[in-house]
Amino acid sequence: MTKLAIMGAMEEEITPLLENFTDINKVNYANNTYYECKLGNLNVVIAYSKIGKVFSTLTASTMIQKFSCDTLLFSGVAGGVNPDLQIGDLIVANKLSQHDLDITAFGHPHGFVPGGEVYVDTDENLKNIALEVAKENDVKIIEGIIATGDQFVCDEKRKEFISTTFNADALEMEGASVAVVCDALNVPCLILRAISDTADMDAGFNFEEFLEASAKNSANFLMKVIDKIK
Ligand code: SAH
Repeated sequence: MTKLAIMGAMEEEITPLLENFTDINKVNYANNTYYECKLGNLNVVIAYSKIGKVFSTLTASTMIQKFSCDTLLFSGVAGGVNPDLQIGDLIVANKLSQHDLDITAFGHPHGFVPGGEVYVDTDENLKNIALEVAKENDVKIIEGIIATGDQFVCDEKRKEFISTTFNADALEMEGASVAVVCDALNVPCLILRAISDTADMDAGFNFEEFLEASAKNSANFLMKVIDKIK
C-alpha cells in the first residue's frame, strides 16, 4: 500500500476520521473536496462522496484514478436487516449487490445486468483483518451481505424484499457502487458500516438520532484497522 483512500458518504462519517490525520491539504476537484493528509509516513486521501451510487462511484474512481490511491476503506452507517444487528453494531461486507438494479423484465435476476454480476466481492484479506481487530478488541462485528440502492429504506415490505432477494444483512446507498469501482480497477476495498437504524417505519427517526454516534463507532473501529494495515 502506498496511498490509502478513506471514504464516507456524508460529512458526519468523515469528521471523526479527519481528526486523526496530519498535514491536511484540501483539494477541490469535480465538485467535491478531497483531503490529502498523512498518518505517520502513510499518504492518505479522505473524502465524503455525497449520498448515493452515482456520487460514490465518482468519488471512488477519482480517489483511485486521479489521486492514485491503491487501497480503499469505506466507513459509514447503514440500516440493519439481519435481526442480530442492533443500532451501533458493526458489519463488514463480504459481498454487495445493487438492490434497485432491475431488468427482471428480460428474465434476469434482480441486481444483474449483462457484463456484471449480482454480487461484487470485497477484499478477503482486509475483511479478515477487520474481523481479527474486532476479536482482539472484543468488539461485536458481523460479516455479511450489504445491499445498496438509491433509496432510504424505511418500510418493512421493501426491507423484506431486500432481505429475501439478496440475503442481505444490512442496506445502505453507496457500498456496492464503491466495491464495483474497486473490483474493476483492481484496488482492494473494505466496506465497514455501523447500524444507525433498522430500515423500518422508525428508520428516519432512528437515523437522525443515531447517525453521529454510529458514524463515530465505525470511524473509531476503522482507525484500529488502519493501525494494523499501515
Ligand atoms: N439525513 C440525510 C439523508 C440520509 S440518507 C439528509 O437529510 O441529507 C441515508 C444515508 O445513510 C446514506 O448515505 C446511506 O448509505 C445510509 N443509510 C443508513 N440507513 C439507511 C437506510 N435505512 N436505507 C438506506 N440508506 C441508509
